[in-house]
Amino acid sequence: KFISFEGIDGSGKSTQARALADHLRGAGHEVVLTREPGGSPGAEEIRRLVLEGDPDRWSAETEILLFTAARRDHVEKTIRPALEAGKVVITDRFADSTRLYQGITRGDLRGLVDRLHEMMIGVEPDLTFVIDMDPGTGLSRALGRQGTEERFEAFGEELQVKMRAGFLDLARQFADRCVVIDGGRAIEAVAADVARTAEARLGA
Ligand code: C5P
Repeated sequence: KFISFEGIDGSGKSTQARALADHLRGAGHEVVLTREPGGSPGAEEIRRLVLEGDPDRWSAETEILLFTAARRDHVEKTIRPALEAGKVVITDRFADSTRLYQGITRGDLRGLVDRLHEMMIGVEPDLTFVIDMDPGTGLSRALGRQGTEERFEAFGEELQVKMRAGFLDLARQFADRCVVIDGGRAIEAVAADVARTAEARLGA
């Protein structure tokens, strides 16, 4: 089974991805917890190319190609082998992040993102958790965190408001696999909700 977590910066998706991995391991599943951009040695190198250095170095189109290349490597080297071995794969971000960040926010490039996805990636998660959160809360959480590669967070609250709406739109568009979770509650309450939903959806 293939599970992704999506949401704005600071929504708590990484914490929730880890919590679900722990929960499913406790239930006896073999779990691979991974992330994007990155998740394989090659894709982690591309992550550095995209997230470090001058943010305006790449055009929106080039950035889409880099993210797609990273995802292709992630799928080839990490995700597909794990799924074929019967493991549960949990990824902190997947293609929905590119549909939104590069496809919508940086310009009207969703068509390009979708075409490249169809050509080069193909696979979609069985289940996607969209961790929804008030942008102000998310932003202050994200900015309070240590880390140097979070350049996108510098865009501020206005962008976060757009992103939140964008993720909710994507959840409607891919309603068959997306579940919106209220991330504004205590971490344990969110985790319990996520675990219950995963079990119900996947028979985990
Ligand atoms: O999820 P994580 O915090 O590791 O993401 C790193 C940064 O990359 C975030 O600030 C996120 O907004 C950005 N990002 C992006 N496009 C993607 C995936 C992540 O701009 N497709």
